[in-house]
Amino acid sequence: MAKKNSIKCSFCGRPSDMSEVLVPSAIDETYICAECIDQIHEMLGEYRSDAQEKAKAEAATDLDKVPRPREINEFLDQYVIGQNSAKKYLSVAVYNHYKRLAQNAADDVDIEKSNIILVGRTGTGKTLLAKTIARLLDVPFTIVDATVLTEAGYVGEDIESLLTRLLQAADYNVEKAEKGIVFIDEIDKIARKGDNPSITRDVSGEGVQQGLLKLLEGSIVNVPPQGGRKHPEQKMIPVNTKNILFICGGAFDGIERKIAQRLNTHVVGYSTDAARQRIQRDNYLQYIAPQDLKSFGLIPEIIGRLPILTHLDPLDRDALLRVLTEPKNAIVRQYEKLFAMDNVKLTFAPEALELIVDKAIEFKLGARGLRSIVESIMIDAMYEIPSTDIKSFEVTKDYAIEKLRAANFDTSIIK
Ligand code: ADP
Repeated sequence: MAKKNSIKCSFCGRPSDMSEVLVPSAIDETYICAECIDQIHEMLGEYRSDAQEKAKAEAATDLDKVPRPREINEFLDQYVIGQNSAKKYLSVAVYNHYKRLAQNAADDVDIEKSNIILVGRTGTGKTLLAKTIARLLDVPFTIVDATVLTEAGYVGEDIESLLTRLLQAADYNVEKAEKGIVFIDEIDKIARKGDNPSITRDVSGEGVQQGLLKLLEGSIVNVPPQGGRKHPEQKMIPVNTKNILFICGGAFDGIERKIAQRLNTHVVGYSTDAARQRIQRDNYLQYIAPQDLKSFGLIPEIIGRLPILTHLDPLDRDALLRVLTEPKNAIVRQYEKLFAMDNVKLTFAPEALELIVDKAIEFKLGARGLRSIVESIMIDAMYEIPSTDIKSFEVTKDYAIEKLRAANFDTSIIK
């Protein structure tokens, strides 16, 4: 052990009587003085804040790497037919979302987030648009369904559980999840039923909208990590929704009547001319305005938090034909691929494709029906051909009719 008067700081050599304190090492006879401790403390502080800045810069969104709206739109074009208005709005909204994320916190102009609402018949591509956008982005993304939600205290899921899936998509990295995008499907199902909300308790309507409002507005919500309903033993994860972009989608069945009323005219709804009816509907949806959502039963506060309102067009015969063949993973391409894996060249006669589309329209199945119709036609060929030497196979209209009959599709009107 060194003598008290001979000990000195092992770093700067300062003797013990010139320092407030000399701290001994736990393992050998070295010491450090108060002055050196102060100096190291200061250096460490600088080092840490540099490292923090660096990490922040790395995490920050680099706008140069983000696709421009036009590029986003072009990407969507590869997978989604038509829907130009929705594509344009979505592309801009997503790009602006990145801008918000790239914005310096000290900026005095605070770019507010612009949540989106997509209105369009079922099977016109709302979910497809959202899914396709997600492929392009490097922020966590999830699709959730509003129909499972009920007001706290009732059977169903709590609003906060919408964010559980986002957390899962972000591998429970809260910071990442807080910059994510949530697609809420079937938002129209939480519309208030009836005009007078106060008469009966509206479990799945207004109460849920009030809860959703909290999320859309940007607040810190406690998310159950496993979803479902909250229960006391579960440890909640606080998530700030300020920077989460919400895209809502819904069919809003019957809203065109509200639009028509607002436009002070009438839907030509009793016409037997189906095409005319469809055109009327097309025309009305494109005039959709926030007040129509209010007449449908969304509360004004929710509408205010979904400032970007756009529509999807119903898919007509031409659009359905394109859906069958054009997108990168079009149904026809998928079957061609399946057959190609057995070295069989599969082709569809144009009349067969038209028949498939006509059946989808006849059964009011829209784009959603195309796949099941094609599947019914192809099942026998997919079963037989791999065990034969056949190298090419054409699906003709007659073949399609025969198979649809066998599958009990009503083909009586087919000539
Ligand atoms: P929605 O969410 O509007 O009810 P979806 O996006 O789920 O409809 O569409 C169902 C299916 O129909 C999609 O998976 C896709 O195969 C097809 N589809 C619908 N709309 C389009 C479209 N505009 N372009 C290409 N395919 C479409």
